[in-house]
This record gives sequence, C-alpha cells and structure tokens, in this order.
Amino acid sequence: MTSRRDFLQKAGLSTLAVSLPFTDALSAMSLEREDKVLRVAIMGLGSYGTRVAEAMKDCKRAKLVGVISGTPSKIETWQQKYGIPAKNCYNYENYHQIKDNPDIDAVYVITPNSLHKPHSIGVAKAGKHVICEKPMALNAEEGREMIAACKAAGVHLMVGYRMHFEAKTLEVVKKQRAGEFGKTLFFQGLSGFMIGDPTQWRLNRELAGGGSMMDIGVYSINGARYMLGEEPVWVTAQEVKTDPVKFKQGVDETITFQMGFPSGAVASCLSTYSMNNLDKFFLNGTKGFAEMQPSTGYGPIQARTNQGPIEAQHITHQTTQMEEMAAIILDGKKPLIPVDGEEGLKDLVIVDAIYEAVRTGARISLI
Ligand code: NDP
Repeated sequence: MTSRRDFLQKAGLSTLAVSLPFTDALSAMSLEREDKVLRVAIMGLGSYGTRVAEAMKDCKRAKLVGVISGTPSKIETWQQKYGIPAKNCYNYENYHQIKDNPDIDAVYVITPNSLHKPHSIGVAKAGKHVICEKPMALNAEEGREMIAACKAAGVHLMVGYRMHFEAKTLEVVKKQRAGEFGKTLFFQGLSGFMIGDPTQWRLNRELAGGGSMMDIGVYSINGARYMLGEEPVWVTAQEVKTDPVKFKQGVDETITFQMGFPSGAVASCLSTYSMNNLDKFFLNGTKGFAEMQPSTGYGPIQARTNQGPIEAQHITHQTTQMEEMAAIILDGKKPLIPVDGEEGLKDLVIVDAIYEAVRTGARISLI
C-alpha cells in the first residue's frame, strides 16, 4: 500500500508536507496539478469554434483563456460567456503580439481552410503551440511549410482529428491491430451531407480549396488509413457534378475514390455535399468485420463487429480531444493514432492525388 509519505513524495510535496497539515498538502498538490493545464486561445469564433469552446468547459487539463477574432461583437460575447480577460483578446491584425503573452500556451486555429496555413505559421512564429482544424491545409506543399515553421519555432503542430481519441473507434482499431478480423482486405468509407447556403465559404474555392473532399471527404481518407493501419500506394478517383451552378469550377460536389494498400487491401470511398445520411465505415477481413454507423459524426458513434456491438460511454469528442492534446503537449503522451503535422500531411498527399486522378483519369502512384 502507498504510505502517506510515498504519496506526498510522488507528488513532489514532501518538503511542503513537513510544514503543512495533510489536507493543506493535498490542496497544494491539486494547485500544482492545476498549473499543468493547457491554456488555449481559439482563433475563429464560428460554428465549430463555439462547439470546441463549449466542450472545453468539461476539460480538466485544457482551458479556454483567449480568443482571436475579426468580429468585435463576438469577442465581447465570448469574454462574458467564458470569463476571458481583455488582455487575452486579439484580432487577425494584432494576434502576433500573443508572443508577449505568457498566459496563453496554444492557439486552436478554426478558420476557413485556406487560412489554416497563414494562421498556423503566424501562431508558430509567435512561439505558441498550434492546433489546427482539418484539413490541415489546402495541399501537401502548404502542409510541409506548416510543419517546417512549427519545427523551426519548436512548437507542437496538431490537427483536430477528434476521432483519433473516440472510444469505439479506438476499440475497433485495437482489434484490427490485434488481428481479430484476420487479414483486413477491404474498407468502405461513406462521408457526406447535403450542403445548404450556396454563399457560404465552403462553396468558395478561394477559402475552401475545393468542395466536399476538403471537408467531409477527409474523414474517409483518414478513416481508411487508421482502420487498415497502412498507407495507400495508389489512388483512383471519379467526380460527379449534378449542380454546376451551386458547385462551381474547382468546387467538387461528389467524388468517389479508391485506394490500394501494400498488403493488397483496397478502400472504396465516397465524398459528397449532395446526400444526407452518409456516415459509415465498414472494414472486412478474412476472419471478421467491423461496421461503424455513424462513424465520424459528433456521436454517439455506433460500432459493431462480427462478435457483436462495441459498448463504450459517449463523451463529447472535443472534450476528450482537448484533454488528450493537453497530455501530448504537457506530458509528452503518445496517442495510438497520431494527430501531428505529419499525420495531417499524409491526408493532404492523398487529397492532392485524388484531385490529380479526377483531372487526369489516371491511377496515381503514391510511392
Ligand atoms: P464557420 O464559418 O462557422 O466559422 C469560421 C470562422 O472563421 C468565422 O466565424 C470567422 O470567425 C473566422 N473567419 C476568419 N476569416 C474568415 C473569412 N474570410 N470567411 C469566413 N470566416 C472567417 O466555419 P466552421 O467553424 O464550420 O469551420 C471552421 C474550420 O473548422 C474548417 O476548417 C472546418 O473544416 C473545420 N471543422 C471541423 C470539424 C470537426 O469535426 N473537426 C467540424 C466543423 C468544422 P471570427 O468572426 O471570429 O473571425
């Protein structure tokens, strides 16, 4: 059994303990723990930024302490709602001054896709850790620049891959790695929803960098990689457009794509902005299968295998993600499925190849 002395020593509080009663030492320890909290500013107070902020209310290791926004009225609302001091509020012109703010450790970039690169590099140059939403950038070249900038600045670069921490997803991945499905030879990923307002940035090539593939399609690319546990060696893809007014040149409505893997496994995927109820992963092996539907929505995720349903408590994805990202930055924890810049880059290399395959009709080699 751990003695009180061991306990205090482990907590690094033995010196304190001689002069403090036990209860006071405990509260000093919890203060020390509270010090190890990742203090986060959110950049881009839109729909997903709001979701992350709400989810962070339940975090113990990560705390929302700042904002970066182009909309003064939102800053005011967020200050009141989340108790954010004026000294931790910035806009896109002055956020570089965050480098002089010792009370912010990391910035979560949740702006439109084309701004991820400039904003992430700006944050890195200000010496703060970068958490960037998916897709990490518009293409692999941009992704490499971001990785280089974060490396040069000595800061973490992480991508908001919330599914990498989701309990049922991790259970399926562990079973696949343990060989419970035998040799996994087929993955199907269906990712789509019907997009509304035609004037939104997601349908503007300049800001989105494409269409459904740059948004929802990334889930199937990423899912194929973590469910099969390998990297693809070739890609083929086909585009279908039923509404060229809504989906202009360079904004894909629907793309089907296929990926081949070194083991001989193949993935068959669909990314669309024109169909609802598409959120399904299916993995098949020589000994069994896993099916997830919904597979990447905000949850609860449903998963079953040939052995039966997978049970796990639903926790708000963004809460778990921010707790785990805090542990990666503060404790050096290694996640089962990476969320670093290199991981984001792998998806971008595939996105580039998918667009090239659509353009050329060719099978694109990734090796
Ligand atoms: P929103 O349009 O709701 O919010 C984006 C915010 O970015 C705006 O509210 C605005 O905030 C800021 N912004 C800065 N410059 C511009 C600009 N030129 N045009 C529009 N907005 C601008 O988008 P989402 O929150 O839905 O998406 C943001 C990012 O998050 C995307 O990259 C998306 O892919 C990702 N995302 C990820 C999800 C996930 O599950 N991981 C889910 C949904 C989105 P302000 O006024 O404060 O400056």
